[in-house]
Amino acid sequence: METIFKKKISKVLNASPEQVFLYWKGRVALYAILKAMNIKKGDELILPGFTCVVVPNAIKYLGATPVYVDIDRETLCPKLENIENAINPNTKAIICQNTFGLSHNVDKIVSIAEKHNLFTIEDCAHGFGGIYNGIPNGKFCDAAFFSTQWNKPFSTGVGGFALINNTNLIKKIEKINQELITPSFKDRFILKALLIAKRNLLNSKNYYALVRLYRKLSKYNLVVGSSEGKETETSERPEKYFKAMSQTQISHGIKEIDNIEKLVGLRKKNARDYTEFLKKHSKYHVSERLFDNHSFLKYPILVENRDTFESIAVKNNIELGDWFCSPIHPVKDPQIFNNWDLDLINLKNASDISKKVINLPTDVNDSKIILNFLYDNLSEII
Ligand SMILES: *Cc1c(COP(=O)(O)O)cnc(C)c1O
Repeated sequence: METIFKKKISKVLNASPEQVFLYWKGRVALYAILKAMNIKKGDELILPGFTCVVVPNAIKYLGATPVYVDIDRETLCPKLENIENAINPNTKAIICQNTFGLSHNVDKIVSIAEKHNLFTIEDCAHGFGGIYNGIPNGKFCDAAFFSTQWNKPFSTGVGGFALINNTNLIKKIEKINQELITPSFKDRFILKALLIAKRNLLNSKNYYALVRLYRKLSKYNLVVGSSEGKETETSERPEKYFKAMSQTQISHGIKEIDNIEKLVGLRKKNARDYTEFLKKHSKYHVSERLFDNHSFLKYPILVENRDTFESIAVKNNIELGDWFCSPIHPVKDPQIFNNWDLDLINLKNASDISKKVINLPTDVNDSKIILNFLYDNLSEII
């Protein structure tokens, strides 16, 4: 089973199955990559200041320091000169990210890293199935990690995998993986129940109610959550973190991954419709010039007041997403930002955008429903 899944993954990535390693979550894949790179106390890693808190968590769990770089308003990715300015003798690696399925300058970031003898890691949690400059996301850097959590390009409930391109790291990660623990019966049982519940219960009428319920239950660790309560409060490693992917996830993934090509096609088509509409109405939109062949997991727009906009969407059964509501999503309380070494002073664009960004679903069959909703609420959109 595992071999079949790895073969299917590697086919999409134009890689070999021996380069693919499976984990309980994407964050665990990142942690394994960092360990294979021998990241330790005193090391610094550069990453976009517009990410998921589980990324700096994996860095902090090893005693290393995340160094955040502000993003550019047009690309939602860091500017090259800001990355270069953040490099110092303690820097060990640069993480680049396919934000919403979009990525920018990955090849140039790799050149900078080579010049300074640094590792590179691609956060492809949003980017599976997308292509950048003719090369699949995940193939540019020494290593990449992917997520198969509920809202990611294809889903195994929770889940993730690593792609290792630097052959020197393969033996190391194989050795580290010997420490992986097997998911418990309870983990697997609850995940299976959630997968069945999702298939049978979730529809656009109860989407918000179920998402709220799921988030609440995960906060108190009552279900297999996207994040355990503690992960969004402290940067201490939870117990039983370094977990392998279970058979439940693997067999679900083997079925789900077959839709990826069709799904990416649909996402690109909807994204084109949204871009055309927003451009016509002179609203913030994704630049086609920069991102014509990306996977568009979600489509970011900026709004005047996110809470207002969200409540209108709830009334209309429009399934909006809230990534990234903070430079380290979903942690909103600035009082605890220093648990992750985050200082907003250097992150002007990221702070501003994370207050205004909201994302549109790109996997809808009919983009007109979304376009009509946008049209009715144009004055709210920036
Ligand atoms: C979802 C996500 C992750 C982590 O993936 P998990 O599988 O939930 O651990 C990492 N980075 C980004 C940008 C993400 O959106």
